Amino acid sequence: MIERSLVLLKPDAVQRGLIGEIIARFERTGLKIVGLKMVWINKDFAIKHYPETLIPIVGKKTLDDWKEMGIETDKTAEQLGAQIHKDLLEFTTEAPIVAMVLEGVHAVLIIRKIVGHTSPHKAEPGTIRGDYSPISMGYATQRGFGGRNLIHASGNVKEAEHEIALWFKPGELFKYSSVHDAHVQ
Ligand code: GDP
Repeated sequence: MIERSLVLLKPDAVQRGLIGEIIARFERTGLKIVGLKMVWINKDFAIKHYPETLIPIVGKKTLDDWKEMGIETDKTAEQLGAQIHKDLLEFTTEAPIVAMVLEGVHAVLIIRKIVGHTSPHKAEPGTIRGDYSPISMGYATQRGFGGRNLIHASGNVKEAEHEIALWFKPGELFKYSSVHDAHVQ
């Protein structure tokens, strides 16, 4: 049950000076940082992380969100998704990202809970997105800018394995003991 997960502090987190604040939240839960670096990715790399298969998924989610908010549109999920994807590639390449791999018991699920809902307006207080991101994804789409929700965290263990291999070379990941190991053995 000890898992690894990829966490990215997106350009908005870096530009707003929230790197230390966000990393501290993961450290204090006892999750172990086993890889950490700053990278400025280009669009070719961004599309590997956010492939075009995401388009219909985010498009449908946005249509559902807009319906809930009473926003009318004649756009299809595919059209909206394509716009969101384009904005996302621009947003994730506009400044550096801090990438890290965290390890711990049920790390993937625990990290998703600490991160909060994709759309910050639905993220609970106490979560990273709930505490620091003052927008909604629906608003970002309507205004035509990237979904600035500060952070990415792998959605499941399989996705985590794929994403970690994409962002980190094996030699950039470390095995070491931490004070928390004694409490989870
Ligand atoms: P996540 O796993 O919580 O990051 O969410 P998704 O995998 O569904 O979406 C990937 C990223 O796309 C999100 O973190 C946002 O940055 C962005 N995104 C998702 N939905 C929307 C949207 O409706 N509008 C905009 N502008 N961006 C979105």
